[in-house]
Amino acid sequence: MIAEVIVDVAAHPIDRPFDYAVPEKFQALTEPGMRVKVPFGNRKVLGFITQIKETSEFDPKRLKPIHELMDVVPVLNREMLELAQWMKRQTVCFEIDALQVMVPAALRAKYEKRFVLNAAIEELPKELHPYFGTRDFVRAQEAEEVYGLMKKEMDKGTVVADTNIQQKTGVKKVRMVHITDTAENIENVSIRANAKQQLKLQEFFLKHIGETFESSQLQKLAGVSLPTVNALAEKGMARFSSMESYRDPSLLTAIDQKHALALTDEQQVAFDAIRSSLNTEKTFLLHGITGSGKTEIYLQTIAQVLEQGKEAIMLVPEISLTPQMTIRFKERFGDLVAVLHSGLSAGEKYDEWRKIQRAEVKVVVGARSAIFAPFQNLGLIILDEEHESSYKQDDSPRYHARDVAIWRSQQHQCPVILGSATPSLESFARAKKGVYELLALKNRAKNQPLPEVHIVDMREELRTGNRSMFSVELAEAIRERLARQEQVVLFLNKRGYSSFVLCRDCGTVLQCPNCDISLTYHRASERMKCHYCGYDEPVPTTCPECESDHIRFFGTGTQKVEEELAKLVPDARVLRMDVDTTRNKGAHEKILSAFGEGKADILLGTQMIAKGLDFPNITLVGVLSADTTLHLPDFRAAEKTYQLLTQVSGRAGRDVLPGEVYVQTYTPEHYAITLAKDQLYEPFYEQEMAMRRTSGYPPYYYVVNIQFTHEDLMTVSGYAQQMTEYLRHRLSPKTIIIGPSASLIARVNNRYRYQCLIKYKKEPKLAEVLQQLIKIYRSDWIKTGATLSIDMNPTAVM
Ligand code: ADP
Ligand code: ZN
Ligand code: ZN
Repeated sequence: MIAEVIVDVAAHPIDRPFDYAVPEKFQALTEPGMRVKVPFGNRKVLGFITQIKETSEFDPKRLKPIHELMDVVPVLNREMLELAQWMKRQTVCFEIDALQVMVPAALRAKYEKRFVLNAAIEELPKELHPYFGTRDFVRAQEAEEVYGLMKKEMDKGTVVADTNIQQKTGVKKVRMVHITDTAENIENVSIRANAKQQLKLQEFFLKHIGETFESSQLQKLAGVSLPTVNALAEKGMARFSSMESYRDPSLLTAIDQKHALALTDEQQVAFDAIRSSLNTEKTFLLHGITGSGKTEIYLQTIAQVLEQGKEAIMLVPEISLTPQMTIRFKERFGDLVAVLHSGLSAGEKYDEWRKIQRAEVKVVVGARSAIFAPFQNLGLIILDEEHESSYKQDDSPRYHARDVAIWRSQQHQCPVILGSATPSLESFARAKKGVYELLALKNRAKNQPLPEVHIVDMREELRTGNRSMFSVELAEAIRERLARQEQVVLFLNKRGYSSFVLCRDCGTVLQCPNCDISLTYHRASERMKCHYCGYDEPVPTTCPECESDHIRFFGTGTQKVEEELAKLVPDARVLRMDVDTTRNKGAHEKILSAFGEGKADILLGTQMIAKGLDFPNITLVGVLSADTTLHLPDFRAAEKTYQLLTQVSGRAGRDVLPGEVYVQTYTPEHYAITLAKDQLYEPFYEQEMAMRRTSGYPPYYYVVNIQFTHEDLMTVSGYAQQMTEYLRHRLSPKTIIIGPSASLIARVNNRYRYQCLIKYKKEPKLAEVLQQLIKIYRSDWIKTGATLSIDMNPTAVM
């Protein structure tokens, strides 16, 4: 027996399977999709078995044997092995990277595999008894000699394979109090008349028979202390349990919809279209404004899929994996749903993954990597907020979850739903062409009006002498909300590295004449550069449009805003949410729930607050500088701005209280801003498509970004130059090759970064040429310490 193995040797130049002999003792267990330790050179390395065969083109006597089986049941099934090959071709990655990304993180670390008794030891053959001894498990490594017998027992079900993950970091638990559901158990308990606290709590219990509270919340609501709760629990009026703190129990009472809502007419149309295509490979683009009830459609279509006995994957951007979202799914599907949120440790994620593998759950809700959930009988895949760039992994394998979803839908003959209020241009263009079926929701489900959006011209502010980062209107609106005790969200649109020069009189930002993207300010050389094509010019001292000398570097940090805010409204309680305040695990959730509980008046944050905020008391959203994203040196700058403004506006007035939004900008006439005001997606789409067509960007062209890094500037620019030449000679003349030029972030960790862009419409030789390039890199350039990365269809070129 011979196994083809893809080995994990990062620097090795050959990306193909190697043949290994399978020793007699392993043969009963060995299957494709298992990981093994194999000798490679003079080391032992990890590998994945991708195929089992009987013959090899090499002399079988000279094949090296597999050293150890790392798994006793496969970690990857056939579909996943095929998917890895597809990803290798599609994203130009190493197959080993594609295989590794599908394996739960916990299994990439140290763990112990075991055989565990699943029946009385007497039911097993005598030969196996000594291995177990008095325990109910045996470590797989200690039982290598009897793998064949173990395999038979596993097939019978008397033994199961298990993995003992040591590094379980516990989730924080909170204490829950369940009030008894029998009134007599509360009424008939006698409490001393001077135990005032206990009497008070008893009364509270009577009003909430059968309900569940988080202990600390109960103490607050009832106005008693913990010993009082303990005392009544001892008297049998309540019992305690613990619950993962992530699932915020206070929300359980807020969202009380355990079954489907009656769909609106619009929802019904979309729902019917999806339902009638449940067993076909088809992609829907569900375009619905914020609050139009997309999630409700997801829930109801998933319910249909479950009824058919099939399974569903629901992808959401990591940041929207909020407790609210989680609860909506848990309430609808109970134990049938596994939620892979960031609050789980690697070990706990693995537990959830195993439930999926064993088909103990039918629905998985999770971020990007949940697309690899090993369901065998998929009936539906959903990507909510499909335009989100987090669906694309930004290191190898650089896959897009949307592409993987569509690939899997072909395997399983099931539909994909891409949902968004602001679809990516690519997806909407495909829907227009009929590649995807477009479903539209134009109204909000509860008919709340969209918030009123005001665009504030910051040029005017300057003219009237206001140099602060708060316009007079916004400052006034903030004070008003504070007086009414409503909540405010202030959004500082900030991206770490974008530093552009803006005229504060007319809003002009310098653009590259070749690329239609903003030029970037380089402090060291005092020059403006285009990081796509390398064009540069001196920093202007006066505005080329209006000759004003108010033209300067633009950018503010959250801390600075916080200071100014303190001057503006000294009494306001402000919570700040940015990379600095959310570094610790769970900090994000903590800030959000503090805000939700009304512990602050103003939430000030970066793009991370744009999503997932759903609190009824927010009535004002302020966007401090819409220009920051608008002038990102990226061809998607306008699209990102439109998406962001739509998203942040959606945070205001989600409940009964109407919402208002102020967007401050130096470019109030830009279409991304004026059209986001009323969520006019289609006009925006048309305008932006026209732009993309003239400048030659996606979806009219495909883009590949190739980046080199090296410690030495001359070396890296030399390689980049050679590579560009190489590509120019081999790709078709119609293909545009831009660069090489320094990347936007020109140096990271003392490594210089150079890049080159390929833009093409049709390039049949692309895959082959790129593979050749990789070969050259790996046989030559790699030795000097250079790295090469190829990004097909990048979400941003920065
Ligand atoms: P989206 O995902 O498009 O932002 P949601 O599904 O979250 O929208 O719906 C927005 C709000 O409208 C939620 O509070 C939801 O409970 C409510 N909702 C959705 N569909 C209906 C319906 N058919 N009837 C009543 N309320 C609905
Ligand atoms: Zn100007
Ligand atoms: Zn340029």
